[in-house]
Amino acid sequence: MATFMNASPPGPFSPDFTICGAPDLILRSSNSIDFYTHKAVLALVSPVFRDMFEFPAPTDTLVEGVDIRNGIPVVQLSETSGAIRQLLLLCYPPALHNEQIKDIDGLYLAHAAADKYQMPAARAAIEYAFTNAVKKEPYRVYAIACHLRLESLAKEAAWETLKDVYRPKGQKYKHPEFELIPAGRIMDLHTFHQECGEKAGAVMSNYQSLDNFEAQELLGDGPYPPWWTDEDHDDQCGAYHTGPDDDYYSPAPWFVDLMDRVSDALQLRPAGETAANVVLNYGGKISGIAACKLCANDAPKYLAEFAETLRKEVDLKNKLELNTWKVL
Ligand SMILES: [Zn+2]
Repeated sequence: MATFMNASPPGPFSPDFTICGAPDLILRSSNSIDFYTHKAVLALVSPVFRDMFEFPAPTDTLVEGVDIRNGIPVVQLSETSGAIRQLLLLCYPPALHNEQIKDIDGLYLAHAAADKYQMPAARAAIEYAFTNAVKKEPYRVYAIACHLRLESLAKEAAWETLKDVYRPKGQKYKHPEFELIPAGRIMDLHTFHQECGEKAGAVMSNYQSLDNFEAQELLGDGPYPPWWTDEDHDDQCGAYHTGPDDDYYSPAPWFVDLMDRVSDALQLRPAGETAANVVLNYGGKISGIAACKLCANDAPKYLAEFAETLRKEVDLKNKLELNTWKVL
């Protein structure tokens, strides 16, 4: 008989899971795994189940008690065992099963089920799990958020992707959830990355060469970081006037080089933290700095401040870009 072929999951929702009383309902997954559960718990968390127990009536996707196993009625569900397990873990108090949702594999299916069975608390808990995964797996969460039409989560995830290389050269995407969304959504993310990279690059060019008026605006009354001063440096160092009428002002050559490096890094990872990290890691190691006593002494302190300025400036540009993007 078919009923004996159905396996049961180990641990919670097995026939021995009697910590809160003997199971009185079996939920059977689409892949024929039987979950031993309790009507009282399901009725508590889901009006759909509550109504089913009060007014049993078959529907397209939820077919009531056509089967009995070990004397317990079986409800056939259309969800996979993974989705049902994740959903049940959220419905039973953690004190009963001591298990947590550890990853986001297939969690979007549990989200869809939480919607279908009207379990708002489970749905909120799943969205919280996605938010927690944003930093670690921004691309996957972006795709899931688009699929589930969760715009603010999609934006949060898109923001985190800026800290990462959009697609390492020669590598294919390895995000299974990309298959859930139209190619347009993936292209949108790619465009967002590119736009942020270009705008961040433009921020850097503002620090490489300025006309005299802009230089005055930027530098104000001082004190100036050493790369913007033209006195007391060793040979080959210090800021200098340039252009046919000396109407441009450039910082010390090593600083121009630093801005180039920041720009390059931002093309791949256009986030404020990228800019800050390049500046912080560069300080002290630069041969240009080391060759000039003034810069060697003074630059590191100013560079630490400048790293924070850049971080904010790049993030601000990116925020503007993000705010004007209608993801869904
Ligand atoms: Zn110098």
